[in-house]
Amino acid sequence: MRARFPIFDEEAEQPLVYLDHAASSQKPQEVIDAIAGFYARDYSNIHRGIHRLSMIASDRYEDARTETARFINAPTTSQVVFVRGTTEAINLVAQSYGEQILRPNDEVLISEMEHHSNIVPWQIVCRRSGARLRVIPITNAGELDLDALDNLLGPQTKIVSVCHVSNVLGTINPIQEVARRVHAAGAVLVVDGAQAITNTPVDVTALRCDFYCFSAHKIYGPTGIGVLYGRDELLARMPPYQGGGGMIESVGYDSSTYADIPSRFEAGTPHIAGAVGLNAAIQFLRGVGEEQFYQHGRALASHALERLAELPRVRLLGRAAHRAPILTLAVDDIHAHDLATLLDENGIAVRAGHHCATPLLDKQEVSSAVRLSCGIYNTLQEIDFFFDQLAIACTRLGKPIT
Ligand code: PMP
Repeated sequence: MRARFPIFDEEAEQPLVYLDHAASSQKPQEVIDAIAGFYARDYSNIHRGIHRLSMIASDRYEDARTETARFINAPTTSQVVFVRGTTEAINLVAQSYGEQILRPNDEVLISEMEHHSNIVPWQIVCRRSGARLRVIPITNAGELDLDALDNLLGPQTKIVSVCHVSNVLGTINPIQEVARRVHAAGAVLVVDGAQAITNTPVDVTALRCDFYCFSAHKIYGPTGIGVLYGRDELLARMPPYQGGGGMIESVGYDSSTYADIPSRFEAGTPHIAGAVGLNAAIQFLRGVGEEQFYQHGRALASHALERLAELPRVRLLGRAAHRAPILTLAVDDIHAHDLATLLDENGIAVRAGHHCATPLLDKQEVSSAVRLSCGIYNTLQEIDFFFDQLAIACTRLGKPIT
């Protein structure tokens, strides 16, 4: 598997131990080749051209949409909107759907384990509409408190937006169960799937969510492209998010009419090569077998938890029963940046800081933490190496943990 990722150069003097998958995944050769090959052979702008290349490029772009719809089991391809990434997908829903329906005193619910991308867009739309943003608490184990969700839900709740997998706690949330409760209250469920898409099956039809958002760069694909899935009756009624070429039916100086979904939400020249790369990433996942990714992740996570059990002075944020291979660790009196710097000296790439989830870290009473997160290319030996080096780093910083 590692040989399929050119970044893991076997000849390198110091091997790369990449434990920062949750920030972005490394790219297999087939994704790199698909993007380079598209630019080398098939590249042109799409949709507005009559010439052969434009038709080829348009087909490649639309093939990517078809494959994406199949990948997440969306009922129709028009329910797959290409955007820049998870962040843009959430902003699109907040500004188009949210602004359309929210009135003063309505409520939007998010949870205590959200990434900034699933907090700030809702703050903005709540401020503009006069709606209230409320926060679903999490349990001590770092799981969504479903009783608290029930207590918060009511006729005033219009939108609930939660992550499928937490980028800090690793918790896999029971989205189907959340959807059942949210729909019983008459609200709409938005799911931030940024961390879920390679760690747990994502079938938007079975999950029964109304919107689902993810980024290609976290599933071994390129940056700059992501997906918003939406239920078609909701998307069809939503106003455009941005105006420009490609999203219109007719344009006059006084008014314009808009294209159908999904084009209505894809103003301007899209990331055509990005869509080709996303398709290649989906083929990569399919070729390996999606279940392999989940199984491998579970094996790495349980090994990491075993190693962690030997280190009582290291605090793990979140102990959810159902989790992804994302472990965020805090060591008393050691700044995470110092640890990450020493680990980097040994070729270990981990994230350190607030992980774009400041309110969650505040609640856990830590200001910064080190996060190790794994992909299909990581090994049990790398997990061992990480914990060995963590212990050495703590000793060097004057706070031995063993
Ligand atoms: N939500 C979660 C849970 C994430 O982990 C991330 C990426 N760190 C995002 C949203 C934002 O994704 P992107 O930067 O690709 O838009």
